[in-house]
Amino acid sequence: MKYLYETHLHTSQSSACGETPGHEYISRYKALGYTGIIITDHFYRGNTVADRSLPWEKWVDRFCRGFEDAREAGARQGLDVFFGWEETFEGDDYLVYGLDRQWLLKHPEAASWTRAEQYQWVSHFGGCVVQAHPFRQHYYIDCIHLSPEWVHAVEAANAGNNEQSYDALAKRYAEKLGLPVTAGSDIHRLADVKEGTAFGVYLDKKMETIADYVEAVKTGTIAGLRISEGRCDYRGNERVKLPVRIRDKRGRPIRQDLESFLA
Ligand SMILES: [Zn+2]
Ligand SMILES: [Zn+2]
Repeated sequence: MKYLYETHLHTSQSSACGETPGHEYISRYKALGYTGIIITDHFYRGNTVADRSLPWEKWVDRFCRGFEDAREAGARQGLDVFFGWEETFEGDDYLVYGLDRQWLLKHPEAASWTRAEQYQWVSHFGGCVVQAHPFRQHYYIDCIHLSPEWVHAVEAANAGNNEQSYDALAKRYAEKLGLPVTAGSDIHRLADVKEGTAFGVYLDKKMETIADYVEAVKTGTIAGLRISEGRCDYRGNERVKLPVRIRDKRGRPIRQDLESFLA
């Protein structure tokens, strides 16, 4: 038996672009056969609802509202709900799993981490970092930033990407680096939670806490991806129209063109 999980989901309470409150997602995900969902609202530098002028504790409370709402409804209806977040740098986004509200309350510095610090500290405290949709080329992105040393895994399939080639490139990139891959819906509204656009990961073991997901990511033991047919198939003619910046572990740009990297 395999257990299905959503890994990338936004609520209207905590993501400014989210259209559906946490509790409304529960019955639909249950109906599609999911065992659980991980709420990943936009974090401090992302499209968050929580007002940044609030004192940190209040900000954290506000940020967790969508998750709390989903978790309460999940507990009533029988769907496991876990906590994570999605942080943004220069159009490049990272899903962070394994740290919770209590941890956040004690660590306001999380709001100003660099990419390298994010990786170091999340690792230190037992979590993991997954780069979300690394090859997305939507209007709001002017450069693709890749930091292969600062992630534990790559989100190969993201249902919010409007071109299949972005996912094919992400999967290829992860394979070249030997990094584990994940899949998620990047859901912002209930209407998109349906066959074909609801992605996720399969695990062999039921998650008890978010630490179980972190372990599956870090050990490369995710049992499979739920994605649409051919979503990550790499053909070799995928195009990257944006400039690409690849950094090494010290943050220095690597002078290598992407095509030769992926070839
Ligand atoms: Zn969003
Ligand atoms: Zn997202």
